[in-house]
Amino acid sequence: MSNLDKFGKRVLITGGAGFIGSNLLHYMIAKYPDYLFVNLDKLTYAGNLSNLQDTEMEENYIFARGDIADRELVGELFQVYQFNGLINLAAETHVDRSLLGADKFINTNIIGTHNLLEISRRHNLFGKEFRFHHVSTDEVFGSLGAEGKFSEKSCYAPNSPYAASKASSDHFVRAYNKSYGLNVVTSNCSNNYGPYQFPEKIIPLMINNALNHEPLPVYGDGENVRDWLYVEDHCKAIDLVFHHGQSGKTYNIGGDKEIKNIDLVRMICKIVDDLTGEDGHEKLIKFVEDRPGHDWRYAMDYSLIKKELGWKPEHDFEQGLRKTVQWYLDNREWMEKCISGEYKTYYNTWYKKRLEEQ
Ligand code: NAD
Repeated sequence: MSNLDKFGKRVLITGGAGFIGSNLLHYMIAKYPDYLFVNLDKLTYAGNLSNLQDTEMEENYIFARGDIADRELVGELFQVYQFNGLINLAAETHVDRSLLGADKFINTNIIGTHNLLEISRRHNLFGKEFRFHHVSTDEVFGSLGAEGKFSEKSCYAPNSPYAASKASSDHFVRAYNKSYGLNVVTSNCSNNYGPYQFPEKIIPLMINNALNHEPLPVYGDGENVRDWLYVEDHCKAIDLVFHHGQSGKTYNIGGDKEIKNIDLVRMICKIVDDLTGEDGHEKLIKFVEDRPGHDWRYAMDYSLIKKELGWKPEHDFEQGLRKTVQWYLDNREWMEKCISGEYKTYYNTWYKKRLEEQ
């Protein structure tokens, strides 16, 4: 018996040093001690190994630094670990960055995902016990009006370069199932919040700026609506879809919590007031020029995953948000370390410029 045979499954998780990936690894490593998890991450500005400090000594966890688009490296990992499953979270994920230039989004989100599919094909994993789970977003569907929700049958209509790159990767995943019979599932999820989210995304950005008494930049009139889900609820959904989703299907995942950006920022201010004992953070709100092509509203109909797999969001939004603000308050050093890297340069040239233009 080889050392690998002692593991019930060997699963490649890509992008495991990022926000959702690190939360997913914490969840899966604890829940499946008999599986081996190999985390392949390029460690871009958004990848942070300190998110996984407490898991690095676990026997069922291995980290490999590299690019999902690197055919030789990924091929070697498949050869060595003989994976039974792959959960693809590696991606360039920030819409604003994709507006500044889409090359990295195309390389990672499209070419990288295709590389993972192609290696699965070359390793002749079709028809064998192998599951390819692609993690995607609600942004592939574009923008909603005041009514309705996105279902799995909604048309793809991506509006940002980020969304277009994710939409393209979703299509490749579908095509490898239809053309070659690869055992794939795709999950499209709404906005996540929780610990370890890089502080360029709205919730940690606002918390951090509020704590530092810096302006809280809100795009346009702040009326854009997002559907929020606590990251651990997303991880539970990924676990279910990975293990029990029907091959070739896509599953929508949503938080059942629609809120306007401006209301979200006001809620964060109130929680920060409360937890720090300092009033008046709301006065820091500053409306800035809208993001080009800014989708107006997202909302996910998650009735399929509820019916087939029994999943629904468990966290109450107010409690989840409070827990999240508390986490960032307790982990200010983590936040500072994130910001002192490449993000700082980006922050200065993008948000600050926009604030100055007002
Ligand atoms: P993130 O930006 O926090 O993390 C992305 C991770 O991928 C980082 O660790 C980064 O180093 C790694 N990475 C980037 N390029 C890579 C490459 N070429 N090779 C290997 N690793 C690479 O992202 P996230 O918010 O955790 O999102 C994870 C996935 O979930 C993405 O596919 C995203 O599209 C999807 N998603 C995110 C949300 C959300 O609200 N955050 C919602 C729905 C879907």
